[in-house]
Amino acid sequence: MQAFARASLRRAYDARCCCLRYGITPLRRTWRAYASLSVAGHSVIDHYYDAIVVGAGGAGLRAAVGLTEAGLKTACVSKLFPTRSHTVAAQGGINAALGNMTEDDWRWHMYDTVKGSDWLGDQDAIHYMTKAAIPAIVELEHYGMPFSRTSQGTIYQRALGGQSLEYGKGGQAYRTACAADRTGHAMLHTLYGQSLKSGVNFFIEYFAMDLMMVDGKCVGITTLSMEDGTLHRMFARNTVLATGGYGRAYFSATSAHTSTGDGNAMVARAGLPLQDMEFVQFHPSGIYGAGVLITEGARGEGGYLLNSHGERFMERYAPTAKDLASRDVVSRSMNLEILEGRGVGAQADHIYLQLSHLPKEVIEERLPGIAETAAIFAGIDITREPIPVLPTVHYCMGGIPTNWKGQVLDVREGEDRVVDGLYAAGEAACVSVHGANRLGANSLLDIVVFGRASALHISENHSPSAPHHPSPSDIGLSSFTSFDSIRLSDGATPTSLLRSEMQKTMQTSTAVFRTHSFLSSGYTHLKSIQDRFTSDLRVCDKSLIWNSDLVETLEMRNLLTNAVQTSRAALARTESRGSHARDDFKERNDVEWMVHSLTWQGDVGAEVRWGTRGVYMGTLDEGECESVPPVKRSY
Ligand SMILES: Cc1cc2nc3c(=O)[nH]c(=O)nc-3n(C[C@H](O)[C@H](O)[C@H](O)COP(=O)(O)OP(=O)(O)OC[C@H]3O[C@@H](n4cnc5c(N)ncnc54)[C@H](O)[C@@H]3O)c2cc1C
Repeated sequence: MQAFARASLRRAYDARCCCLRYGITPLRRTWRAYASLSVAGHSVIDHYYDAIVVGAGGAGLRAAVGLTEAGLKTACVSKLFPTRSHTVAAQGGINAALGNMTEDDWRWHMYDTVKGSDWLGDQDAIHYMTKAAIPAIVELEHYGMPFSRTSQGTIYQRALGGQSLEYGKGGQAYRTACAADRTGHAMLHTLYGQSLKSGVNFFIEYFAMDLMMVDGKCVGITTLSMEDGTLHRMFARNTVLATGGYGRAYFSATSAHTSTGDGNAMVARAGLPLQDMEFVQFHPSGIYGAGVLITEGARGEGGYLLNSHGERFMERYAPTAKDLASRDVVSRSMNLEILEGRGVGAQADHIYLQLSHLPKEVIEERLPGIAETAAIFAGIDITREPIPVLPTVHYCMGGIPTNWKGQVLDVREGEDRVVDGLYAAGEAACVSVHGANRLGANSLLDIVVFGRASALHISENHSPSAPHHPSPSDIGLSSFTSFDSIRLSDGATPTSLLRSEMQKTMQTSTAVFRTHSFLSSGYTHLKSIQDRFTSDLRVCDKSLIWNSDLVETLEMRNLLTNAVQTSRAALARTESRGSHARDDFKERNDVEWMVHSLTWQGDVGAEVRWGTRGVYMGTLDEGECESVPPVKRSY
């Protein structure tokens, strides 16, 4: 009842604002806004905002705070309560060349990020991010984020993989600012506090379904209120997608069950491309059997990996960086150890992460969450025993193509075209700062930097209450019709069965090591899963109120779009680069493949179209920092 009253109040407020905008009397507009449309027996409720942000993780909240502070009336739509977004689970930290532990320079951070990306990252965007990193951390500190401290009182910074000084020549960098091993928790709660302070209008537990597009411009989104089953059209001059990654397309992933790539699939259904979907990062240390993450910070604080001979095998694969080589390098080395019979455990199918030699104070002060996680999920006391770990899906480098201002890009006849009214930020976006492989602690950075950049670009170019693009009266209704036909699906195969088949297919076919035969059999299998999804799906619960069967089916539709495009792009790329390691094409091939891949699918079941787009090799200002030419990547 209370919730209903809250929702009614909000609707009345929205109605009043749009009346003011269009200069009509509130009563008449209220009636026109809320009672004029119905589809398949559901009435449809309309809302009008200057800007909509879909997602309330780090990227969404930072964008929403920036937009609201600029005076734009902003709605933040989230299927989760904001502080439950996956950002909350981030452990290790956030990179910035603050220079608190050793001398540092953001240009060295830029060099490491380009190298980490295996030269697939766009260097204009990497330039922007690494330079903006320093003020971004200061801003978070001023917002109240409780960073860990050095004895001098400055922000503590730890070592993490792939980070160096002096363009790779000065040894390990200490660049990762953190709040113990609960950095994402501290960041998300801080940003949520700021969003309440600035007056963001939240639509919590609203599920965004589709983009509303008119003549190639985005005019808003369609949503379902999961709480009361009502359907909504939300109109805005600009929409920012910050819906996170799609790790749950795989069976074993460190990401939340809600990381289902919804924004990516919304973009795909709108006929726009996704970029670099084949690049999926496996984190070296997911707890064996549980998939739960043990942060790279554990190795940053001095932990190391051991095989069944008790050998620190990373010394062989990466003589300089050892256990702190880039994630793709460490994950592949672990897999090779296991394949060559040096795995640990009864099945010799995993690796040990040794931490018990670390002083107890380091564990208590810097890694308290890891000690707790290992005890709960592996029954291990890390002060006495090693943790059993295995590479586990962790991060999606691919996603919605954008430029460094956050604007979503379409590609037609080989030309980049900005999609008017549409932005993307965070793990959903492919800016691309991570290229073929993301460095640890560069994602918490990416989400705040590009969440802010999107808000800045929108507010610099649109004043509050600027007119919306005109749209036909029936816009968005087909989204509701398709939603209803999914809800009423009466076939024989439940969503859970198809989801588990898809996740296992992705896990075996599109894994750490890939070959043509595995990839193509995986792609064929995914097609058959799509066929059953479109022809034989069963949604058992037909109700509209808190229907988790229905919402999981909408998520499964989105996951399938992500999975199929990942598989298709991986099949096409006949080289090894970053996280994409082809056993049948072992070398990087810059002549043919220093390009982003693009995939278009539309809705589930449609053929995937494939194409490419150039990588930006130039920086924003060559005088300030020079671009990094490609060389062979070694650690
Ligand atoms: C266990 C773990 C540890 C990590 N540790 C680190 C680290 O130490 N350092 C680092 O840099 N990176 C780390 N990462 C990566 C990083 O945390 C994520 O990439 C980043 O937090 C993603 O933020 P985001 O804002 O893009 O999305 P998320 O935080 O995933 O938020 C997505 C938001 O979108 C909303 N949403 C999604 N779909 C819909 C829909 N259909 N309708 C409405 N709302 C929707 C959700 O409700 C949510 O609010 C870690 C990741 C994991 C999984």
